[in-house]
Amino acid sequence: MDDPHFDVVIIGAGQAGPTLATSLAKAGRNVALVERKDVGGSCVNFGCTPTKAVIASARVAHLARRAGEFGLRIPTVEVDYRAVLERARQIVLNSRKGLESWLEGTKNLSLLRGHARFEGRDSNGFRLRVGEARISAQQVVLNTGTRSLIPPIEGLKNIGFLHAGNWLDAPELPRRLVIIGGGYIGLEMAQFYRRMGSEVVVLESAEQVAGSEDPDLASALQKLLESEGIEFHLNTRVEKVESSAGHIKVTASRKSGASSVEATQIFVATGRQANTDDLGLETVGVNASNHGIVEPDKRLSTNVRGIWVAGDIRGGPMFTHTAWDDYRIIESQIIGDGSRTLERVVPYAVFTDPQLGRVGITEQQARKAGRKVKIGRFDLARNGKANEVGETSGFIKVVVDAQSDRLLGAAVLANEGAELVHIYIDLMNARAPFKVIRDAVFIHPTLAEALQSAVAAVAERSQTIEEMAHR
Ligand SMILES: Cc1cc2nc3c(=O)[nH]c(=O)nc-3n(C[C@H](O)[C@H](O)[C@H](O)COP(=O)(O)OP(=O)(O)OC[C@H]3O[C@@H](n4cnc5c(N)ncnc54)[C@H](O)[C@@H]3O)c2cc1C
Repeated sequence: MDDPHFDVVIIGAGQAGPTLATSLAKAGRNVALVERKDVGGSCVNFGCTPTKAVIASARVAHLARRAGEFGLRIPTVEVDYRAVLERARQIVLNSRKGLESWLEGTKNLSLLRGHARFEGRDSNGFRLRVGEARISAQQVVLNTGTRSLIPPIEGLKNIGFLHAGNWLDAPELPRRLVIIGGGYIGLEMAQFYRRMGSEVVVLESAEQVAGSEDPDLASALQKLLESEGIEFHLNTRVEKVESSAGHIKVTASRKSGASSVEATQIFVATGRQANTDDLGLETVGVNASNHGIVEPDKRLSTNVRGIWVAGDIRGGPMFTHTAWDDYRIIESQIIGDGSRTLERVVPYAVFTDPQLGRVGITEQQARKAGRKVKIGRFDLARNGKANEVGETSGFIKVVVDAQSDRLLGAAVLANEGAELVHIYIDLMNARAPFKVIRDAVFIHPTLAEALQSAVAAVAERSQTIEEMAHR
C-alpha cells in the first residue's frame, strides 16, 4: 500500500500550526498536522498560559500584603504553592483539551502523533517519517518551536535544575533560587518566585537586564524588582555549579574577579534553542544557521520551494502572537493572494508587575539607525487613576520620528502596560501622526490618559486635563 499523501504537512502544533491546518483544511486541502508531544506547544503547555496563571496568583498575594495601604486588614497571607501550580495546570489542561477537540473535529485534517523528520524527496513530493509511519507531502510547513538553551556551565548537568520547560512539574517552592539570565523569562519568573516567598538572586552576564531595551527602562525594571527584595548581579557570567547536601554553590566571573552565590535551586533562563537539529533538513536541502534558525524570505518561504517556516524557528521576534500571525502570512501565500508578508508592526510585553508593553523600536535603536527623533515621557505617579488604584510605579516613553511625526516605538511600563500599549499599536498600524492621540478625548480617570500625556509631552503644547489636575 502507498504511503499516505497530503497536500500540506505541518510539523509542530504550536502557535501557527493548528490555525493554519484548520484554515487550509476548510479550504479543501488534505492536511496533516504532526505533533510529537502536546498540542499547543510551548505557549499553552509551559510558557505563556501557566506563567501568566501563576503570575496572577503572585499578584493576588502581593496585593493582599499591601492591604494596609488601602485601609484593609489581612493579618497573614499564606501561599499554598502546590495549589498555585495546580490552578495553572488546570488552565493548561482546559486550553490543550479545547485545542485538541477543535483539531480532531476538523474535516480534511489528520492529527498525527510522533516525531516528524524529512527523508528526502521524490516524484510524490517530500518524503517524511512520523514515528514509525511514512507519509509524503506536496508542501511542508515547519513550526517546530524552541526549547531552553542550556549553556555549557561546569557541573550544571550533574544537578537537577529548573528551566522554562520543567518548572511547572517541580512541586517544591525553592527556598533560595538563583536565576541564571535576566531576560524576559528570567525577570517574570524572578518576581513570581519572590512573591511566592523564595529568596531570589538574578545573575546576568550583560551590563543590564531585559536584553536590548533602552537603559532607562531596564534600570527602572530592575529597581522595581529590587524594591521587592530580588537581588541582581550584572556583568556576572556563571562558570561553575557544585552541589552538596542540598546546597548549591554558583561560581561566577566578574570584571572585579570571581564571586560565588549560594542557592538551594537554580533556574536556567539563558535563551532558546531552535528545534531543528533532528528534522532531516539536510535531506531536502533546507538551510539552517548554527543556532538552528531557518531564516525565511518575507513570505516565510525557506530556500526550498514548497517548504515554509513559521514561529520561533524563523528567528526574529519569538512570541505567540508573531507565530500566530505567521499562519496568516503562509495562508495568504498558499491559498490567498500572497499579499501578506513579514512587513508588520511587532508588539510584545514583559509580564512583570507593572508590565512592560512594547511596540516598535527603542530610542537607542532609532538613534543608531540615524533617525532624528523626539521623545515624550510621562511618569505614572502623575496620573490620576494610578494614584487612585495605588499603581503609581513606572513610566511611558514614546519615540517619534521628528520629520513625519509618526510613532517609531513606545514603552509602557505600567499596571496593565500590555493592554495599554495597544493604543500605540493601533496608531502605528494606522501610520497616523502622534497628534491623533494627543487631540483625541480620553476618558477620565483612566491609565490610558497617561498615554495621551506622553505624546503631549512630545508636542510640548498645552497641558492635558490630568497634568493640570496634578500641578
Ligand atoms: C516561559 C515562557 C513564557 C512565555 N511567555 C510568553 C508570553 O507571555 N507571550 C508571548 O507572546 N510569548 C511567550 N512565550 C513565547 C511563546 O511561547 C513562543 O513564542 C511560541 O510558543 C512559539 O510558537 P511556535 O509555534 O513557534 O512553537 P512552539 O509553541 O514551541 O510549538 C512547537 C511544537 O512543535 C513540536 N515539535 C517540535 N519538533 C517536532 C518534530 N520534529 N515533530 C513533531 N513535532 C515537533 C513541539 O513539541 C511543539 O509542540 C513564552 C515562552 C516561554 C518559554
